[in-house]
Amino acid sequence: MTEKLALVGIGKIARDQHIPAIFANPDWSLEATVSRHASVDGIASYAELQSLLDARPDITTISLAIPPQPRFAYAEAALRAGRHVMLEKPPGQSLAECFALETLAREIGVTIFATWHSRFADCVPDLKSWLAARELKRLRITWKEDVRHWHPGQEWIWEPGGMGVFDPGINALSIMTEILPHAVHVREATLEYPENRATPIAAELRFTDPGGADVSAVFDWRQEGPQTWDIEVETADGNARLSLGGSKLEINGELIREGSDNEYPNLYARMSDLVRTRTSDMDLSPFIHVCDAYSLGRRVVTSPFHY
Ligand code: NAP
Repeated sequence: MTEKLALVGIGKIARDQHIPAIFANPDWSLEATVSRHASVDGIASYAELQSLLDARPDITTISLAIPPQPRFAYAEAALRAGRHVMLEKPPGQSLAECFALETLAREIGVTIFATWHSRFADCVPDLKSWLAARELKRLRITWKEDVRHWHPGQEWIWEPGGMGVFDPGINALSIMTEILPHAVHVREATLEYPENRATPIAAELRFTDPGGADVSAVFDWRQEGPQTWDIEVETADGNARLSLGGSKLEINGELIREGSDNEYPNLYARMSDLVRTRTSDMDLSPFIHVCDAYSLGRRVVTSPFHY
């Protein structure tokens, strides 16, 4: 059965990914958008979520593609109106908000999905099954990109709750928490803050692994030229390299697969399954690592950042 859906926040990710993925999936019908400034040709447009919830009880599902700071209020309103909710990553601006939403969805009996789009990259399941049978020795995340290119003029990422470089970094952590057969935890972190910004532009994290493996991550938003979204894995029994954010996998230097960009089609397929089975998926483990990095992180102040 086709579910009627409204998309909230018609910004970069809505246009780049959500709208094409919804249109391509017959399980979903895009019935309306909510945005203070934008609309989609041929689709009903509302400036406020509450107006849509009041006017369109037939819309079962609300997908939130807004920044994390306002997300709790939108999600709470949608859940209280009995709608299923799909959250862009990160699922909120604090862990407690996310726990509250999960509880509310359970009490009301609707689906909530904390999406982690990078987990749905083509080669992530391949690396997960390869690693499951092996003893981890080292895992190194290198996630370096140019904030000017990927977040042009987006001031919210520099405001409290916007997460700074953890906005992309949490994507890498979502892959790590998916592929590792056991949990690790942040042991130490260094966070670099431009002197004119409230969120970090770079970070280094070291994790404690129960098996003693060397697990670490570096995130940097000042990378010009080629962009790097790599996870290197060394085991007692061979090495793997996941690159291009999860769409390319090499094992022992040999190309295993180079997929295409299916993350958002896969997310909407997953949401469809969750709604059909009236289940939820609210894994917060990537967010826990970010919160721990903030808690444990040594703060270093660097030169100002301007677009
Ligand atoms: P964006 O381009 O700034 O768009 C966000 C949209 O949300 C805006 O168009 C705005 O629409 C609405 N919005 C902004 N501030 C708001 C507020 N305070 N209250 C209500 N609505 C607000 O941001 P984005 O890049 O699409 O990112 C949105 C989310 O997607 C973030 O959580 C981000 O981490 C995630 N994401 C982004 C990317 C990417 O490549 N950019 C990739 C994957 C995931 P109106 O002003 O018209 O209401």
